[in-house]
Amino acid sequence: TNTAGIPTLTIKLVLLGESAVGKSSIVLRFISNDFTESREPTIGAAFLTKRITRDDKAIKFEIWDTAGQERFAPLAPMYYRNAQAALVVFDITNEQSFRKAQDWVEELHEKLGDNIIIALVGNKMDLLTMQGEISNRAVNEDEIQNLCQQENLLYFEVSAKTGKNIHEVFQAVGEKIPFPT
Ligand code: GDP
Repeated sequence: TNTAGIPTLTIKLVLLGESAVGKSSIVLRFISNDFTESREPTIGAAFLTKRITRDDKAIKFEIWDTAGQERFAPLAPMYYRNAQAALVVFDITNEQSFRKAQDWVEELHEKLGDNIIIALVGNKMDLLTMQGEISNRAVNEDEIQNLCQQENLLYFEVSAKTGKNIHEVFQAVGEKIPFPT
């Protein structure tokens, strides 16, 4: 889409979540429509940018991936400082990663207030399988819903591998951004 000349709002968006839940993969899918099985640490730019359009306006996301720094908790505030939006990512086949996501949501609200737009993102939905009646889904859906209601979160289940719902997450976050009038 050619967004030259239309009103553009720049939004800092940060990705948080346990290591290996797929944060970098989500960014790669969104920006380049690509996926890799290998784990190459994100190096280089501090953030990547991508524009989406909304009505007759554009939103330019400055996307900050923590590049593995989430393992060094003291550095996290440097990444989320002044963020207007966050994707808090977990792996829907990994319960521990959901607990960690809960912690991130609380920390963001505590440090940045209630105005930050947070989308909770359950990644790797391509790995969900059923053995008869039994699913390998590691997180109870009611619990997810409760958290989303309590903390006022958007919620999406996505797959960076297949691309399912990736664009939708960013679009939904974009829809919630208040444009100055
Ligand atoms: P990060 O540490 O949170 O940035 O996670 P990465 O993006 O590096 O991904 C960790 C691993 O999970 C890599 O091997 C990815 O290929 C894999 N991965 C990421 N997203 C998905 C997904 O949606 N489905 C599957 N099956 N694997 C994924």
